[in-house]
Amino acid sequence: MRTMAAPLSQSATQKVSSNELLRFIRSNAAETLTPQELLTWGIKNFAPNLALSCSFGAPEGLALLDMMHRIDPASRVFVLDTGRMRQETYDLIDRVRDRYDKNVEVVFPRSEDVEAMVRERGLNLFYESVENRQRCCRVRKVEPMNRYLAESGLQAWVTGLRRDQNVTRGDTPKVEVDELHGGIIKLNPIADWSHDQVMDYIEEHDVPTNRLHAQGYPSVGCAPCSRAIGPGDDIRAGRWWWESPDTKECGIHVDEENEGSGI
Ligand code: SF4
Repeated sequence: MRTMAAPLSQSATQKVSSNELLRFIRSNAAETLTPQELLTWGIKNFAPNLALSCSFGAPEGLALLDMMHRIDPASRVFVLDTGRMRQETYDLIDRVRDRYDKNVEVVFPRSEDVEAMVRERGLNLFYESVENRQRCCRVRKVEPMNRYLAESGLQAWVTGLRRDQNVTRGDTPKVEVDELHGGIIKLNPIADWSHDQVMDYIEEHDVPTNRLHAQGYPSVGCAPCSRAIGPGDDIRAGRWWWESPDTKECGIHVDEENEGSGI
C-alpha cells in the first residue's frame, strides 16, 4: 500500500504552500479532475520545474505530451535512453522534436556502471535470472531516473501510469508525494483511463506514436525485452515475457523494499 507520509521537499513548496498541497492530495480532489485539468494545475504550480517522463514506446506518454503541449508549448519532456532501445523509438523521438518543436531531454546511464555490469554478467544477462534483469533495469533506467530527478531541479513530474496496466499499478493515485524521489510531486493524470480512452485521444488529435504498435507491440521497451503479442494476450504480455506478472516492474515506480517486486 502506498503511503503519503513523506515530508515535502522544500523545492516542491515554492509556488504552492506545503499545507495547501497536502490538503489537495489528502482530499482526493485530483481524482475528480480530467487529465487536462490536473495537468493545468501542475503546470500552473510547478512549471518550468515540471516534466513529463515519456518512454516513447507507449501511447500514454505521447497522449500526455500532446495535452501538455496544448496547455503550455514550453512544457518539458524527458526520456531515458537505456542504450538498448529500438530504432523505431529513436525515430519517434525525432518526429516529436519536429512536430512540437520540443527539446526532448535525453538521459543516459552512467557508462562505468554499464561497463562493469556487462563485464561481470554479459550483454544478455537479463534472460538468466530476475536478479540479473533487475540489475540491468537498475543500471539503465532506475539510476539515471533517480539522478535526473535529483539533479534537474524538478519540483514535480508526470507519468502515464494507468491502474489497469498491471497488478502492481492497481492503487496508483492521480497525485502523490513521491517518496522514492525526495518528496517531489508525482502526477499520474490518466491513472483511471483505459487503453481505449488513450487510443481515442491519440486518434482524435493525430498524435505521433511508435510505428511498432501497428506490428503488435502495445508497448515498446528495450529491444531484447519486448516483443509483439497475439490477439487476446494481456497488454503487457510482451514485456519480460519469461517472468511472472508480479515481478514486471523496472523499479522506477515501485519501492523495492516495501513492495517486494522491485526493480
Ligand atoms: S528492459 Fe531489458 S534491456 Fe532494458 S534496462 Fe531492463 S533488463 Fe535491461
